[in-house]
Amino acid sequence: MKRFIIGYLCWAVLAQPHKEDEDTVIRTPPFGVQTMWPFYQPTKYLKIEPFNIHILGTPSVSDWMMRESCLLIRNMVAALKRPEDREKFSGHQAFLITDDDPALPGTRGHRNTGGHGFSLFNEDLVCAEAVDTLYPDAKPAFRAWDTPVHEFGHAIEHTLKLESKSDAVFSRHARNYNPKVAREYIAWAVQAWFASTRDGRGRDAMPDWQFEYLSTIFSAENKWTPVCNGVRPSRTAARNTGTITSNSSTVEENAKRESTLSLVRHVDLEALAGNYQRIPVQNKWHAGSISIEKRDDKGQPTVLRWTNQAGKSWRLFPDLEAGGLQTDKENPYYSSNLKSGRIFQLAFDRTKATAFPTHASGFWFQDQLYVKTSEIK
Ligand SMILES: [Zn+2]
Repeated sequence: MKRFIIGYLCWAVLAQPHKEDEDTVIRTPPFGVQTMWPFYQPTKYLKIEPFNIHILGTPSVSDWMMRESCLLIRNMVAALKRPEDREKFSGHQAFLITDDDPALPGTRGHRNTGGHGFSLFNEDLVCAEAVDTLYPDAKPAFRAWDTPVHEFGHAIEHTLKLESKSDAVFSRHARNYNPKVAREYIAWAVQAWFASTRDGRGRDAMPDWQFEYLSTIFSAENKWTPVCNGVRPSRTAARNTGTITSNSSTVEENAKRESTLSLVRHVDLEALAGNYQRIPVQNKWHAGSISIEKRDDKGQPTVLRWTNQAGKSWRLFPDLEAGGLQTDKENPYYSSNLKSGRIFQLAFDRTKATAFPTHASGFWFQDQLYVKTSEIK
């Protein structure tokens, strides 16, 4: 009963700004919402309106996972003590994937993570008896929402910039404190706060110092904890529904085509001029600017130029049907990275745009996002 009430409340709150079903119906992701991890191709989308949080799911993710993860994130953010902390989650992107999706590049099979502005949950580890693909030799164990809660704990620490506070608290009190895993302590504590550890004992079983620290982050009056609600669809069944997959990829293709058309019609090439940075900037190749080099008779930019702080520079050719700016051999990555080193793929922050995006918030190059930091006068 209690579970039902909590679920109902989530949707009631979610639905406030719009018509009731608008926010609970799983849609195709609006163009430009996805500004990270281009190797995940989400086809499912939900938005937590009050917090402006985007939930993106790949085709192998169930609708159940979409809705339940939406609830989880909404309730975890709502449990934060201060409104200004909740606001810091505006624009957060939660990616939902399964073992059928690729692992994070450069990792040994990670399909779960959380940080400033993002989280990644693997449905195969949620409310199921499962073995984490990271530890294939481990015994299968039942996991409720343990892993997503843990990852969202990481997202909370980084989004609220609690790292040094956590270090002070845990290094002082935690038994056998290991600085090498300093960032894990908060994630474990958040799991315990939301009764999402193997023993499920919850915050009342926490040592006082830990309860005190966590209650500076979360409201102690908020007693919500996640549960395995409803019927979790079997993933084997989901894998075998070939017809559904092909239907949804048609939907996806149509959406993509529409997005490309709106991009071609609406994007403002003039507004691409400006300064850009890859975050974090780690060398002089990570910061630079785009300028307009050539225009046609009507004054429309036909050639732009990228110049980075290392003094390297190359031409950019608008190719909006491809979603960005093409380069040629002047670009030093042109021959070495055929996949993502030839085009500056424009990125849009849909939350700031009106009906169609006109102003790019940045671009993707070599699988890295460069964000616009300022205009050039
Ligand atoms: Zn962790």
